[in-house]
Amino acid sequence: MKVYNTLTREKEDFVPIHKNRVNMFVCGPTVYDMPHIGHARTYVAFDAIARYLRYKGYQVFYLMNITDIDDKMIQRANERGIAVKELARQYTDAFMQDMEALGVTSVNLYANATDYIDEIIWQVKTLIEKGYAYESNGSVYFEVNKFKGFGKLSRQKMDELKAGARVELDENKRNPEDFALWKAHKEGEPWWESPWGKGRPGWHVEDTAITFTYFGEQYDLHGGAQDLIFPHHESEIAIAESISGKEPFVKYWLHTGFLNLKGEKMSKSLGNVLTIREMTKRYLADTLRFYFLYTHYRSPIDFSFDDLEETHRALTGMKRNAQDLREIAKSAEPDMSEAVKFRERFIEVMDDDFNTREAIANLFSLFNEANKHRDNPALVAGYLKVAGEIANVLGIRLFTVQSGGKEKEILQILLDLREQARENKDWATSDYIRDRLKEIRIIIEDTREGQKVRWE
Ligand code: AMP
Repeated sequence: MKVYNTLTREKEDFVPIHKNRVNMFVCGPTVYDMPHIGHARTYVAFDAIARYLRYKGYQVFYLMNITDIDDKMIQRANERGIAVKELARQYTDAFMQDMEALGVTSVNLYANATDYIDEIIWQVKTLIEKGYAYESNGSVYFEVNKFKGFGKLSRQKMDELKAGARVELDENKRNPEDFALWKAHKEGEPWWESPWGKGRPGWHVEDTAITFTYFGEQYDLHGGAQDLIFPHHESEIAIAESISGKEPFVKYWLHTGFLNLKGEKMSKSLGNVLTIREMTKRYLADTLRFYFLYTHYRSPIDFSFDDLEETHRALTGMKRNAQDLREIAKSAEPDMSEAVKFRERFIEVMDDDFNTREAIANLFSLFNEANKHRDNPALVAGYLKVAGEIANVLGIRLFTVQSGGKEKEILQILLDLREQARENKDWATSDYIRDRLKEIRIIIEDTREGQKVRWE
């Protein structure tokens, strides 16, 4: 199996550090706003990668951090007049709901940065002791020129880095390119006690503290979108390798291309976002996943509703076909003689740096072939077995045909009606809607934030 490693800019053989175990970490969101479909693109890509590694028989420990303290969080919490903790709680909940809605189920553990303050402080202390970091007015900085390997991931030379960093003036730093490991407390900001006084952690050290806790000094696979290569991942390498003296900190670095809207990266700061929440109301998660995965994870996606509609039509057609073939296969014992070549092709393309685009093309070819053997239930059953395996790795429910996401809109209409009934204290109607939905295993819970829906 080959994966493209940003560190070497090459497709390399995938050989985990500890035999069959894959320790995998992907940078999670900064929880100050609703996640958008740019996030969805990245997290669906890594979800498919984790699913495929498991399909191949690896024991995957998939860890994701949640950045619940940083400048943007503080600014947003202040604008809204709420505590940073409260803001983090709201948007962490929203993120979890959105991941569930998208079928991103492969993460084993989500780790909040603020739960690892002791580990962060230990790393910062160790870096000072080893001469890589210095304290200045209650803040601690990593002295970049002390780490010889700085720039190896982003392929930048030290003088380019220095030139690039000059814009960021901070009189506490010895050199403009140094980055903060610990930030001295400022009025109105959350703080923790530390050997350097009250303060809060810098961004890069949050992730290294979390991964050292679970994986130790070195691990297999680190992911994120391409914007994180520099400075974030470069700085993580500097921190980790300076502490451990071992390299590589991470064996394989994987980076997703951006999801763009009209040529610009979709991002909260640019304000050109389509939230996962609104998109999963309008489209099935399956459609969104199929759409994202039909582009290789390293290539950019230029988002378009027309393409999404087209994907929806193609996927619905495939699902109908799958149901129809299931009628033919009934309980026939699968004959794998023909289908097996599609499984082999699937493994071949996914082994080539997780080529989900080709995997989907292969799935379409499988159905074409299966349709030619409708007179043979055992062969059809074999094709369906392989189709089910592929769909499972892609995270698509092949055998549920839904009416283009409309049922979600219908559910929303019912929820709105129930909301109105409750406002009018018409408890009979409100209970009736809740009970009837419960009969079809849609559970409504009334929470402080309003009605929450759970599909059982
Ligand atoms: P953030 O919440 O901005 O820290 O982003 C969380 C993750 O989503 C990071 O890996 C980002 O690089 C990734 N991400 C953010 N915007 C996009 C986008 N438009 N396309 C793909 N990935 C993105």
